[in-house]
Amino acid sequence: MFDKIVIANRGEIALRVLRACRELGIKVVAVYSEADRDLKHVRLADESVCIGPAASADSYLNIPAIISAAEVTDAEAIHPGYGFLSENADFAEKVEQSGFVFIGPKAETIRMMGDKISAKKAMLAAGIPCVPGNNDPLSDDPKTNLKLAQEVGYPVIIKAAGGGGGRGMRTVHTEAALLNAIAMTKAEAGNAFGNPTVYMEKFLEDPRHIEFQVMADSHGNAIHLGERDCSMQRRHQKVVEEAPAPGITEEQRKFIGERCAKACIDIGYRGAGTFEFLYEKGEFFFIEMNTRVQVEHPVTEMVTGFDIVKEQLRIAAGEKLSITQDQVKIQGHAIECRLNAEDPKTFMPCPGTIEQFHMPGGPGIRCETHIYNGYKVPPYYDSMIGKLIAHGETRESAIARMKTALNEIIIDGIKTNIPLQHDIMTDSAFAVGGQNIHYLEKKLGIY
Ligand code: ADP
Repeated sequence: MFDKIVIANRGEIALRVLRACRELGIKVVAVYSEADRDLKHVRLADESVCIGPAASADSYLNIPAIISAAEVTDAEAIHPGYGFLSENADFAEKVEQSGFVFIGPKAETIRMMGDKISAKKAMLAAGIPCVPGNNDPLSDDPKTNLKLAQEVGYPVIIKAAGGGGGRGMRTVHTEAALLNAIAMTKAEAGNAFGNPTVYMEKFLEDPRHIEFQVMADSHGNAIHLGERDCSMQRRHQKVVEEAPAPGITEEQRKFIGERCAKACIDIGYRGAGTFEFLYEKGEFFFIEMNTRVQVEHPVTEMVTGFDIVKEQLRIAAGEKLSITQDQVKIQGHAIECRLNAEDPKTFMPCPGTIEQFHMPGGPGIRCETHIYNGYKVPPYYDSMIGKLIAHGETRESAIARMKTALNEIIIDGIKTNIPLQHDIMTDSAFAVGGQNIHYLEKKLGIY
């Protein structure tokens, strides 16, 4: 096992990784921006290094500064968390070239999965069902593209191969709009991602978002840890996540899950990863793979009793997967509410000082947050300040526990989305489960 690692992230995930390191006896180097001196994990770390000014581009995205922090502290590995540099293949490559272990997949795997066309091709080859489409760069020939769209069937969606964060996509409902949409998406993709390549797929009108968690080691072993439903979204941002996904059968879980695990072996995947699918009318369609730990990993941890972050560290240190597929058992139901420092009605970020914080408790409640009394939420980063997770024997009991926890938690001094989360937990359609990705926005529209 490593003696010391650098955590190249901030906020709740940096604290989560620090806790896993503590359990495994690994020393921690925290790197932080000038705006983040008071972060909880910075205070708890064995060593800390300031890597630059508040702006992410100058600190958490500053590759040379992070690598030199590892050098001066004599660390062995770097955990990228999520967001920031976690899916940056050049970063993974530079980390390894500098003699450190990147706690994640190989750079070439990140690169392959970061290009949506090559990712889809790899998945099709591994037997993973994908959204119907052309799966090749669109040509410049109008006739070919019009014919293609007719074959795929309207509505279609034009997507940038290098897109991300919900950007670089355009839905087309009629033939008249197709050619213009392709030209515009290409131009935008070139500007935003430095890669004008676009492709076409069928636009699914009312899908759910269901994703599978996988773990793979560097000895050719891979498992899946079941699925999560992340359909409660606003502007493609997940708001509530849960595991397992309501209505998904054991057979479906096994069928898709085993294919995901097999795909990991086929592509030489290493570490934690997520296969994201759109699910419509009983069918799964792969959209993309996230090659890192995700915000919503705790719901999977709660229903499987398996520590995903500790396993990431073990795998990066060269160990074999600590469990086999047969040992993965889904128990009960878990729900996660993201806690954001934002106005619950306008969604405007609301940084400021936490005047009072009370953590909720009780059976099955887990609170992942870096905030504390007197902590100042800076305005420079994502507005997520924590996550509340509730586990129960049934979905009903998980919701009941979440409601109690949301009533109990106190975050004073800033506005948060707790009222919105409360509304979702008391929503009658959410109680039934299985709503599609448009449900929350429709609900908000009638507010
Ligand atoms: P990104 O990398 O930008 O997150 P994704 O491919 O994961 O892009 O898609 C993001 C979101 O866009 C999906 O969660 C879904 O809401 C929508 N989307 C993407 N592809 C399709 C499709 N073929 N049909 C319908 N919606 C889609």
